[in-house]
Amino acid sequence: MENVIIIGTGCAGYTAAIYTGRANLNPLILSGNQPGGQLTTTTEVENFPGFPQGIMGPELMMNMQQQSEKFSARIEYTNVTSMAKAAAGHFEITSEDGTVRQARAVIVATGASPKHLGLPNEKSLIGHGLTSCATCDGAFYRNVPVCVIGGGDSACEEAGFLTKFASTVYLIHRRDTLRASKIMADRALANPKIKPVWNSTVVEYLTDEKGEVRAVTLENLMTGERSELELKCVFVAIGHVPNAQFLGDLVDRDENGYIIQTKGTLTKTEGIFAAGDVADHVYRQAITAAGQGCSAALDAERYLTSIGVR
Ligand code: NAP
Repeated sequence: MENVIIIGTGCAGYTAAIYTGRANLNPLILSGNQPGGQLTTTTEVENFPGFPQGIMGPELMMNMQQQSEKFSARIEYTNVTSMAKAAAGHFEITSEDGTVRQARAVIVATGASPKHLGLPNEKSLIGHGLTSCATCDGAFYRNVPVCVIGGGDSACEEAGFLTKFASTVYLIHRRDTLRASKIMADRALANPKIKPVWNSTVVEYLTDEKGEVRAVTLENLMTGERSELELKCVFVAIGHVPNAQFLGDLVDRDENGYIIQTKGTLTKTEGIFAAGDVADHVYRQAITAAGQGCSAALDAERYLTSIGVR
């Protein structure tokens, strides 16, 4: 039986591991299907305090992993599929390979995954000219036109990064103003390689004879007019869905699926704590996720003391 299992290896998960490790709780971390979390798919992080020159997202996550291991955190690379509360009060966490692990307390730091538009052939085009990760796939599209769908910070960041490779980056947004923070929006709009396509949405992905994306059909939401835009890759950056489905009724969720915390990082089930993007639809920053990871670790430590573990 583990004292505490932390599910997720983003900023929240690793911070929770550093704190519970340092409190001698010997935490076990279960990685999830994207070890290192969302920052491993980004480039430079300019706003994480302590790095005046910025730091690359993957490097920041490697640092956090090493720091948690320094305090004896153990990492297992697996994806959790379900969780249940046993009659004795502990939790049983089942992974996709069928392994069941037991823990007295659980910190859920599973983050959120990229959303898609929901168009019919969308899922089958992932890896064939459709992606949500510019850092991973941008370099494959040199000197060709690509597009980014979305108007938030992610869309602007991805678009800026893609200008290193692509000939033109169309920024397709459903309104005529960006949601992104002013600095990111200004930077994107000042980049001559980024061409905004306002008030528009993609209604169809068109493919070539090899099944690779060759164009999109755009719909202008003001006029209803449709047009074809030729490009080689679509980067979808329209936000995220929280990864909380595996918890069933153990937690309450809001209408968008984010875990509802009752007090601090507590959830409706004693012994389950939630931290980071899986429970935060408002701030969603690396630093706020890390902060919540710290809070969840302290809450879990108090809970374990209250049930006589220490
Ligand atoms: P977001 O802020 O939720 O923006 C999502 C964008 O996608 C919005 O512009 C939205 O349009 C659009 N959208 C949503 N659903 C759509 C649909 N079905 N069809 C077309 N467009 C759709 O998500 P995000 O950009 O991923 O950012 C998430 C959080 O991470 C934010 O808090 C952000 O500040 C943060 N972040 C920070 C940085 C940084 O500081 N370096 C980088 C990336 C992300 P509307 O605007 O019309 O709603």
